[in-house]
Amino acid sequence: MEKKLTKEQWVEKGQAMVENRSKRIEKAKGWKFDTIATHGIYDFEEAMNHNYGSIMEPVYLSPAEAYVDSNHMEAALAYEMPTWCYSRIANPTSLYLEETTALLETYGTDILASCCATASGMAAIRTATDPFLVKDDNYKKPNIVASAKVYGGTFQQFWIRRFVENGIEIRWVKDSTDINEWKSLIDRETRYVYGEFPSNPAVAIFDIEEVAKLAHNFECPLIVDATCASPALTRPIVHGADIVIQSASKVIGASGTSIIGLLTSRNNIVSKIGSDEMKANFAFWAKLWPFRDNGPAISPMSAFLTLNDLRSLRMRVSQMSKTALTVAKFLQKHPKVDVVHYPGLEAYPAHKIAKKYMKLADTDENMYGYMMVIEIKEDTPDGSKNSRTFYDNLKMTWRATDLGRVKTVATLNAISTHQQQGEEGRALASIKAATCRISVGIEDPVDIIKDLSDALDSI
Ligand SMILES: *Cc1c(COP(=O)(O)O)cnc(C)c1O
Repeated sequence: MEKKLTKEQWVEKGQAMVENRSKRIEKAKGWKFDTIATHGIYDFEEAMNHNYGSIMEPVYLSPAEAYVDSNHMEAALAYEMPTWCYSRIANPTSLYLEETTALLETYGTDILASCCATASGMAAIRTATDPFLVKDDNYKKPNIVASAKVYGGTFQQFWIRRFVENGIEIRWVKDSTDINEWKSLIDRETRYVYGEFPSNPAVAIFDIEEVAKLAHNFECPLIVDATCASPALTRPIVHGADIVIQSASKVIGASGTSIIGLLTSRNNIVSKIGSDEMKANFAFWAKLWPFRDNGPAISPMSAFLTLNDLRSLRMRVSQMSKTALTVAKFLQKHPKVDVVHYPGLEAYPAHKIAKKYMKLADTDENMYGYMMVIEIKEDTPDGSKNSRTFYDNLKMTWRATDLGRVKTVATLNAISTHQQQGEEGRALASIKAATCRISVGIEDPVDIIKDLSDALDSI
């Protein structure tokens, strides 16, 4: 039994824990990307003092933390000292993932960030945006400015849940590369500005620095979903964004074992809504309060599996990007293919913006990720006959609504991810009947191209 401490002594002990954490973060800040991804803040001391010397982060499949005595419990539950308390709020294994993610999203800078891991990417988006839509008597007619080219689930969350069900105005930016369009839509009542980099599935991008400036002029946070780039290529916080979302169900968790979301915020975000405490450390604040009350917690097992994939993120993204460029160039030259949309191609309309923001961490090399969309030549403008023939004849490539996977996957978006959005929603998202999203995996490019080539020959 430990010596009985007063509540004040527990709080002091908590301060020492906080300092210890800051030291470990500082140490990790001095490392290269792959080293941070591999170790995070889980070091020898953490292993020896808390985890029986285990060199890997243990999976804490435990619902709750025990306290030494009533003083300890009181200090912890007043949030006056670090505590994980109950796995809906926090969990040691999840914490290791969160710390590593916050370090990677701010890599190469001295910006500090915090991260909240969630049960899915959609839960991360909800957790990241809810706090800006609360009642505020100074701003009575809230609106959201968002790129229209967003993930189908995000479109539904904003359009159906926010607008149709709750009457919050959504202003869609149709051409995300047009800075004037963003400018014309953001105003005093805008609560947050939102975009994907690159978008799923249209592979649209935007100038993060410029849009961040516009948002900040009206004291709005810029929230960027960078799932399709990942921190190995693009770190929006470094370019002025306040909050970044990852669906770690995709390339971060490329082996395909979990659905998981990551919400990372820089310290001191810009927002006219919310308390100073909220703005100082948004993700951490969200975790302690709304996330706790709403309950979209991740499973510690998923956190562990994701952490394991995160370690090799950079090398995987490097290989996938190289392969994707090779595949994109092959498809671009193919007589049966009309359009290939991939940020790495000269023909890509926003290639210059892609070059500015998409670079493999720790290199000067531009790389453009794993995802592209193609349109196969059809006999009629809104046809899909040839696309379906191609699709149905893929032999190795999986037909699924998935991406970022180690295995190559293809999706016909109009009948899957964007089936429920209707004609209008599909038009906003630039989804045609013939649009086919290809997510390139880690197989050898020779075999990927052979599979695509054979399927194209079957048309
Ligand atoms: C998949 C995806 C999401 C949603 O993530 P889930 O983990 O499936 O909930 C959000 N944004 C983008 C860009 C995605 O690709």
